[in-house]
Amino acid sequence: MNLILLGPPGAGKGTQSQMLKERLGVPQISTGDILRQARKNRTPLGVEAESFMTAGKLVPDEVVIGIIEERLHGADCKNGCILDGFPRTVAQAEALKGLLTRSKKRIDAVVNFSVDDGELVNRLTGRRVCPKCGAAYHTALAKPEKSGVCDRCGSDLIQRDDDKEETIRKRLSVYKKETQPLIDYYRREGTLKEIEGLGEPGEIFKRLSKALGLNAS
Ligand code: AMP
Repeated sequence: MNLILLGPPGAGKGTQSQMLKERLGVPQISTGDILRQARKNRTPLGVEAESFMTAGKLVPDEVVIGIIEERLHGADCKNGCILDGFPRTVAQAEALKGLLTRSKKRIDAVVNFSVDDGELVNRLTGRRVCPKCGAAYHTALAKPEKSGVCDRCGSDLIQRDDDKEETIRKRLSVYKKETQPLIDYYRREGTLKEIEGLGEPGEIFKRLSKALGLNAS
């Protein structure tokens, strides 16, 4: 099953795709995670992406399309994948369609999570993530057992440098201009499913599972 999770930053795409990955046994592909790892390792890709990311802007289409093209060839994507944070522009969506068509694959469903701006800013400013295993927490809504430490692997939690309020506002405005048009794009393609993104992750996962025709348990 090839799925796209769509929605503004902070809508819960990362959390839901982690849960879906367990359920479906296909990999989660997050272009944001791939770019953050490249930045950490100071690779040419990471160095190129850095200034865009810290400014809350999109990394150029040709760069992320190249990443996805390579990643989709991975043997683990044979039975499908969950795309989290890609595509983010119509040009990326068109490129993805071409790539999949050439491999005789298709997008089975596109899920859009809707959450209002006030809630997104609240979620993102309080978000803390584990740089090692990717687990996500919130300073008020989803605290780890021990403050500042990952429950899963014991690493120190960090705040992403693009989760500062000013950058968040920029990311939301980029989302509205560049990514929101994809909702209509996929509605026209007939693959769009819309999910209310407010609530507990488990509750949202139930809605998501229902929309995809899966058994949530
Ligand atoms: P995310 O973790 O998905 O919020 O992505 C973090 C940042 O990585 C974004 O603000 C962009 O700078 C960059 N990025 C991630 N995915 C894409 C994409 N599909 N197209 C362009 N830039 C991206």
